[in-house]
Amino acid sequence: MKNHLSQPFSVSKIYEAILQGHVGLLAKAITLSESEKSIDRKKTGTLLTRLLPHSGRSIRIGITGSPGVGKSTFIDAFGKYATSLGKKVAVLAVDPSSEKTKGSILGDKTRMEELSRDALAFIRPTASRNAQGGVAEKTREAILLCEAAGFEVILVETVGVGQSETAVRNMVDFFLLLQLAGAGDELQGIKKGIMEMADGVVITKADSDNEKRARQAQVQFQHALHLFQLPESGWKPTVLTASATQKKGIAEAWKMIEEFRKATCASGFFEKNRQQQQIVWFHQSTEALIRAKMLGSKKMISQMKILEQKIREGKIIPSVAAQKIIHAL
Ligand code: GDP
Repeated sequence: MKNHLSQPFSVSKIYEAILQGHVGLLAKAITLSESEKSIDRKKTGTLLTRLLPHSGRSIRIGITGSPGVGKSTFIDAFGKYATSLGKKVAVLAVDPSSEKTKGSILGDKTRMEELSRDALAFIRPTASRNAQGGVAEKTREAILLCEAAGFEVILVETVGVGQSETAVRNMVDFFLLLQLAGAGDELQGIKKGIMEMADGVVITKADSDNEKRARQAQVQFQHALHLFQLPESGWKPTVLTASATQKKGIAEAWKMIEEFRKATCASGFFEKNRQQQQIVWFHQSTEALIRAKMLGSKKMISQMKILEQKIREGKIIPSVAAQKIIHAL
């Protein structure tokens, strides 16, 4: 029998290379983790388990905002600022559309021109994925791999669609909402749920004619955020303005996140939150695997069809039918 572990994707080889910060093999490891083949899942599991003690030493920052708000320009400038401090920066993306369209505009290298040429940066465009656990689980694994490779700042980009924002919120330490200053009511059209998830808001494109409006928006947002209950972190969300093209407000955004880290590390929330996120990941993976197991079994599918028919005929209650399925798993 062939020993798969000694093939090109040898776990030991990748393990060593990742610890040495080899980005080529880091990219390959992420590709491996995205594969749904059971042999690849096994290898990924072995690799991640070995790398686990070397992961976690980073600040994980989620960045969200509507298309056109300036995410990639901001990430480019913010990432460059972090690398100027000597930090290694990884950019990952969670794009809900990639599951359907098999393509994505997030996490695209060409959108982050300066950062993509920086030796301290690693940008991973979103691949088309059909993962059983969804794109979120894959991104979580990619975060661990990047951390083991020595990346200290992990930026996870997502676009303003409720579900993906919640998923990203559940895998990062700090969640940053980018927002444009509008002409009218700044808060119109922003879902309260997203505001409540944010640890910080940056009003983008605060330059030239837009500067005054950005400051007004800053005041409005800060005011609105005060009305929310203080989050569990104990951190009062901060609102800043920035111009990524003029590199203004970038250092302030970094400082805000550093302060958040210091405060939440001191209070114990930082670690507690990460532990809780691991539990959420575990639950979500379990659910995804149960679903996959159910849908992957012909016997199970035919049993479900029979039960569905009985439900239609009013012969069985859906919750009782569900119990029957679970017992048959
Ligand atoms: P994304 O879709 O959220 O990633 O937005 P982009 O970063 O691609 O930016 C959308 C547009 O806004 C581009 O034309 C950028 O050049 C422009 N833009 C981004 N940041 C700024 C900024 O700080 N100031 C100004 N004036 N324009 C910006």
